[in-house]
Amino acid sequence: MTKKKIVPLIFEISSPGRRGYQFPELDVEETPINELLPENYLREKEAELPEVSEVEVVRHFTQLSRLNHGVDVDFYPLGSCTMKYNPRINEDVAALPGFTNIHPYQPENTVQGALRLMYELDRFLAEISGLSKATLQPAAGAHGELTGLMIMRAYHRDNGEDDIRKEILIPDSAHGTNPASAMMVGYEVKEVPSDDRGGVDVEALRKMVGPQTAGLMLTNPNTLGVFDENICEIQEIVHDAGGLLYYDGANANAILGIVRPGDMGFDIVHFNLHKTFSTPHGGGGPGAGPIVVSEQLKQYLPWPVVEESDGRYFFHKPERSIGRVKSFYGNFTVLVRAYAYILSHGSEGLRRVSEIAVLHANYLMENLKKDYFLPFDRKCMHEFVLSGKWQKENGVRTLDIAKRLLDHGVHAPTVYFPLIVDEAIMIEPTETETKETLDQFIEVMKEIALEAKENPDKVTSAPLTTPVRRLDETKAARQPIIRWTKPTE
Ligand SMILES: *Cc1c(COP(=O)(O)O)cnc(C)c1O
Repeated sequence: MTKKKIVPLIFEISSPGRRGYQFPELDVEETPINELLPENYLREKEAELPEVSEVEVVRHFTQLSRLNHGVDVDFYPLGSCTMKYNPRINEDVAALPGFTNIHPYQPENTVQGALRLMYELDRFLAEISGLSKATLQPAAGAHGELTGLMIMRAYHRDNGEDDIRKEILIPDSAHGTNPASAMMVGYEVKEVPSDDRGGVDVEALRKMVGPQTAGLMLTNPNTLGVFDENICEIQEIVHDAGGLLYYDGANANAILGIVRPGDMGFDIVHFNLHKTFSTPHGGGGPGAGPIVVSEQLKQYLPWPVVEESDGRYFFHKPERSIGRVKSFYGNFTVLVRAYAYILSHGSEGLRRVSEIAVLHANYLMENLKKDYFLPFDRKCMHEFVLSGKWQKENGVRTLDIAKRLLDHGVHAPTVYFPLIVDEAIMIEPTETETKETLDQFIEVMKEIALEAKENPDKVTSAPLTTPVRRLDETKAARQPIIRWTKPTE
């Protein structure tokens, strides 16, 4: 982890007459511009373009890119987001001209390779989830949730129960997209409490289910990073009441090749290819959140899905399809990257991904639990949640700790989530880091814990070395200034 250097941000580097290019000498007769374009399209004043040399342009944009943190720069322990390294072989495969030069309107028989890829990715995800058939259309995890819940609703409607089954049950540790998606599909959300081990409070759940239950949305391991061992009982309670089970598999980094949502009793699952399957994310996409459903639900999948017969691949519309949820076939080159990732690992390799992800998280947790309060002290899965409540006694909040990490070249972990942990710090190292990086992170976290005791002002005034200090994060999200404007003299 390298401490950040402050790079001055100089934007106004234009110098009159400086050029980064040279046109060849004109060897035809010059036509006056007003003969080429109608008068009303002509500029009144010349455009104010920066006049710079080529190397200045390269340096300017390279420096800008270095102001950002990315997984290619340094450690990125952003819990729940699985910021793993994106293997470059995925990029090589996605850049093959056969994939980049095709058009979605091409006839099926001219794009058999692309269809085969989608079909096989569908089969891989079915195998990994223990379910039957996938749609690759959803562009994000939340979009997958929406699609899955629309299918759930279509199923209840076909059973004549749409008027009765109005409620979706969601644990209080769930990702915020779960209740949001349920609301968008027209469901009422009921919050299921957690027990003191961080899992679903089974007795509370038993009291909450009934003929009004449409389904339960669950993440397992949940956002606390703990695996709910009562899952078999939970699924029975929900199914016995006539509800369905939705698995939020946005982050499946702990379970690959070890346990399958279908075997746990889930009916619908979504995966974030941009988390577990290493396709790039951060900065807003594009992503992919395919869902996989059980045999009884596959007739509701969005169309088209890809099917195969005698080695020929073709698009198909499921009988009771809920319709399209995205134009064409989803973010195709993201699908290509995930396909390359799965093939290059193989089933043994995918299992190893999860084993190492879990090992790394437990290694960090064990090494940090003396310095930070660990609310659920049990073996974690791919991530774990600390609490900054000891540091809070010295006036240092979790946000301050996250900001101080920036000074050490580490991306801040997820903070204040899940909501059920006071001053939550959610850490997910992923399997792609070396032991040296994990050890350095432990050292940095211990140093900050010590600083919080001995020199709290230093932590509360962090970051000290980043190009910009503390931002108004709400304003930055709501009214982002994404274009440079020339300061008025
Ligand atoms: C990331 C995440 C989501 C949402 O995925 P998006 O692609 O950001 O929409 C949902 N649930 C969990 C548990 C997640 O980690």
